[in-house]
Amino acid sequence: MLRSLLIGLFAVPVLIFALNLVLQTGEAPTIAAAFSAAAFLAIFLVYRRSGNTAGIRLATVVVLLIIVVPSAFISNAGLDGGFGYFVLMFGLIVVSITREGRERIWFSVLYALVVTTLVVGDLTILPDLYPDISRSTLRLKRAYSLIVSAATVYILFQIYASRYMQEHRRLVESQRRIQSYNDELFRQARIDSLTGVPNRRDGIERVQAIMEIAERNGRDFALLLCDMDHFKTFNDEFGHDCGDFLLKEVAQELQRNTRAQDFVARWGGEEFLVALPETGIDGALELGEKLRKHIEQLDLVYNSTRHRLTVTIGLTARRGGAAATIDTCLKEADRALYYGKEHGRNQTVSALSLPGQNGPNPT
Ligand code: GH3
Ligand code: MG
Ligand code: MG
Repeated sequence: MLRSLLIGLFAVPVLIFALNLVLQTGEAPTIAAAFSAAAFLAIFLVYRRSGNTAGIRLATVVVLLIIVVPSAFISNAGLDGGFGYFVLMFGLIVVSITREGRERIWFSVLYALVVTTLVVGDLTILPDLYPDISRSTLRLKRAYSLIVSAATVYILFQIYASRYMQEHRRLVESQRRIQSYNDELFRQARIDSLTGVPNRRDGIERVQAIMEIAERNGRDFALLLCDMDHFKTFNDEFGHDCGDFLLKEVAQELQRNTRAQDFVARWGGEEFLVALPETGIDGALELGEKLRKHIEQLDLVYNSTRHRLTVTIGLTARRGGAAATIDTCLKEADRALYYGKEHGRNQTVSALSLPGQNGPNPT
């Protein structure tokens, strides 16, 4: 589209040039057309070759020189080619696409000088230059110059805008890539790469947030620590890969059997943390038992070998959002877990019903 417009605009002055040559209608329009053609050709070539704003800027300066210097001679010789309009427009383009700073100031000064010279010249000398050319012919010539100049500005603006948009799109695209790279880094920093569940770092933050909300809104809250029983023996007997496989299966089982608002994290080697918002000690015990039984019943096949495993769960809870730190809650759950390990494993133990427990909020 842009290309055909440029070619079209180049063709018009060339045609006028040719027509004038054939019809010998006059020197001024012929020269005007020739210079117009040269100007368009220069812009077109730059557009095709470089396609960048720096190139266009250079071309504009060259075109300025090509037009201004000869047009000064031509005006001196008493001919009007209507180049003033071009010069006016090109100057604007140069100023608008020049970088801030000294360069821009110089261009602005040059532009102001050229414009002043042309306007003064146009107003004072022009009517006297062509006493024998009719007013309507002069008007036509000016209309033509104006239309072509406006078209030139439009096209140059389009070129500039399209380059600018390309840059802009590239920038947006690279920003998007950086953002998704950051998101991925952020995700990786918070996800356990083996099991795919959140890791300890994410766990601490999320549990803290859950606890704060519970405390502020006076809601129940429970915490479970789930540790696989005799996990070491699986590693020792069937290899580390088998251990990894079992870890993944247990993580999935925990996620499958908890609600969307609950939160499962890998807390350590073969230990998982489950945070339960809006859940009291009874609900936590119920869920703990459910999880324990589900895992106990899992039929896990790795390398054609069937595995059965159990977990011990220690849990604690806060009623009505009673104040507590994550550390005290974790210590309580850990104590209950330890008690379960000491008393036969494969069981769910509440910290609030441990012997000698005088918890801050026993149920
Ligand atoms: P207990 O019933 O007392 O919890 O015994 P256990 O063997 O489960 O506990 P212990 O703490 O003695 O051993 C935990 C084992 O978990 C030891 C460690 O090699 C293993 N482990 C920790 N992280 C990973 C892991 O990412 N992959 C595998 N395969 N094993 C792991
Ligand atoms: Mg264990
Ligand atoms: Mg352990």
